[in-house]
Amino acid sequence: MIKESRLRVHLLDSYKDPDAIAAIAIRRCYSNDSYEELIEKISPEKRKQLVAQVEASGHTSTLEHQMFTFAVEGLSRIAETQLVRKRVGASYSIRSGRYVNMAEAEYVIPESIKNSSLLPQYREHLESVQKMYKELTDSGIPEEDARFIQPQSLATKLIVSMTGLALMQFLEKRECTRAQWEIRKMATEMHKLAKKVSPIVFDNAGPTCKTQGICWEGKRSCGLWKQIEGATLKIRQKHLFKEGAGGDLKFIDE
Ligand SMILES: Cc1cc2nc3c(=O)[nH]c(=O)nc-3n(C[C@H](O)[C@H](O)[C@H](O)COP(=O)(O)OP(=O)(O)OC[C@H]3O[C@@H](n4cnc5c(N)ncnc54)[C@H](O)[C@@H]3O)c2cc1C
Repeated sequence: MIKESRLRVHLLDSYKDPDAIAAIAIRRCYSNDSYEELIEKISPEKRKQLVAQVEASGHTSTLEHQMFTFAVEGLSRIAETQLVRKRVGASYSIRSGRYVNMAEAEYVIPESIKNSSLLPQYREHLESVQKMYKELTDSGIPEEDARFIQPQSLATKLIVSMTGLALMQFLEKRECTRAQWEIRKMATEMHKLAKKVSPIVFDNAGPTCKTQGICWEGKRSCGLWKQIEGATLKIRQKHLFKEGAGGDLKFIDE
């Protein structure tokens, strides 16, 4: 019987007060006060003002002093591949398929397949994979080779740490509706957890339609920007596009 995985995201650790770290780093740039004075002088109101200042200007290197470590379980290898594309300011430790036997593996089953008449065949296929994996390892084939039979729906377990800035960048791309549903689900959980410990910095995180009032997705935009007051659809290669009905963008030669 195939075990279906469930996505679990847990904030393992962050600094005691990540918003304070960010505020002190920001203030450090413009003040000659000692660090003791900085800590004493930055009121909660001042923190908000300082963070707003760097988030608005994009001078966000001061957010690199924050650090968040998450434990993630039940994520498919498909979403894991997308996660590790975040290269800068992020560290990963991922369960090894060479040293861990996958006979008790769990698999992600997407909703569309759960609601499909083909669900029984999907499960049967995974069961036959499991059976073959066991046969291979029982016959002495090492785990590192037997794992070649495993599908991308295989659920993994990992630890990921990101600086505050890296997490902001990750949420910008992966909370956008254009991101794939599983990574979006994980990003949304990470955002909720980070906001609990760093409410000021992570109040203004997520896709740019929400944080900047700008959708940069051009033709592929989901259109959510239309529901956000004052938001616009923009494009970097402006000369290649013309404005269509309702503010949508079209290639000039279309
Ligand atoms: C909806 C969506 C679909 C995607 N589809 C695909 C896909 O089909 N195939 C695919 O391969 N990827 C795909 N990606 C991944 C995407 O191209 C990015 O690699 C990923 O989102 C990580 O973002 P990043 O490069 O900004 O982050 P990071 O890797 O953390 O980089 C942060 C910033 O550092 C700079 N940087 C990093 N590395 C270099 C470098 N080598 N040289 C110069 N500057 C650098 C860049 O300015 C970059 O913006 C997709 C992403 C999204 C959100």
